[in-house]
Amino acid sequence: MNSTKTIGIIGGGQLGQMMAIAAIYRGHKVITLDPAANCPAARVSEVIVAPYDDVAALRQLAERCDVLTYEFENVDADSLDAVADLAYLPQGTRLLRISQNRVHEKEFLSSTGVDLAPYRVIRSSADLGNYDFSVKRVLKTATGGYDGHGQVVIRDEESLATARDLADKTLCVLEDFVPFTMEISVIVSGNGTDLTLFPVQENIHRNNILSKTIVPARISQDLADKALQMARKIATEVQLSGTLCIEMFVAGNQILVNEIAPRPHNSGHYSIEACDFSQFDTHILGVLGAPLPAIKLHAPAVMLNVLGQHVEAAEKYVTENPSAHLHIYGKIEAKHNRKMGHVTVFSDVPDEVKEFGE
Ligand code: AMP
Repeated sequence: MNSTKTIGIIGGGQLGQMMAIAAIYRGHKVITLDPAANCPAARVSEVIVAPYDDVAALRQLAERCDVLTYEFENVDADSLDAVADLAYLPQGTRLLRISQNRVHEKEFLSSTGVDLAPYRVIRSSADLGNYDFSVKRVLKTATGGYDGHGQVVIRDEESLATARDLADKTLCVLEDFVPFTMEISVIVSGNGTDLTLFPVQENIHRNNILSKTIVPARISQDLADKALQMARKIATEVQLSGTLCIEMFVAGNQILVNEIAPRPHNSGHYSIEACDFSQFDTHILGVLGAPLPAIKLHAPAVMLNVLGQHVEAAEKYVTENPSAHLHIYGKIEAKHNRKMGHVTVFSDVPDEVKEFGE
């Protein structure tokens, strides 16, 4: 029996690259589709150079692959459905469509019974009405937002005017601002039948970009169990294939789900060295419908993101701390705030592991 597959990955950024590496270890062949010939995944796979929604290119990819997957949620779901007859897409497009639109995402999450911050759909500025400032809220565009883009925290007349402009341009959701004590995330992988979960991760953001992840999250076992249970509920509801990340807020003894990403996630990168299987390993196993291992964290770990402005500091850090694991994705240009790599270190005193730029 030949169990070697050709896996097509839509998107050749760092997530596509790390997925490809996990697949290659197992003997699979990988072809990625990306608009940039020199994308990170080009170092480890053949690349079909085309826009993500180019149906002819997707068709070519699908014809050459046994299984298709994607590295990010803004893949055009209709284009994917259009090639579904050519290659197996175990993840389907339902979860993709849900996570592409905050309105669908909130409706779906509410239907699973997990807790979320109170929200309402805003179709135009008229829906903001005679605005009541007594509760702090955040307006988020339904589509196209990432790392805090497309969001306005409404705190005064000036931010309300910005929010009204945004609401007249595009569909939005207005949600209560959560006075969280911690942001956490849970990575879960599925093979269509069974699930495997990673430990709860604690996330620290700077300017809405992930800066540091601490595992295990410094929360009570009760809260961790609650977070894992919510992740399990969501993954079960969609009969998960591949890896999914669920981002949540801890507020008192409550866990509120913020958003989901149907792919490996920056907050799970530590798993490459700190767990016996990484979120990329389980993604590949999951989309191939293979049995999934239970995940073991070898020791408490910290992941630091390396943005464009941090590359030199990260290189200096690893020369001074040779047991730190440096990952550099091979992006051609080190732009400000662009994710260029990450560092994982084992530490049970996470406060002593300083973020780059801190
Ligand atoms: P998002 O794009 O929804 O992940 O939001 C980016 C970041 O904005 C989150 O990681 C939080 O730090 C913050 N944020 C988003 N929504 C809320 C909220 N309802 N309450 C408090 N902070 C929020």
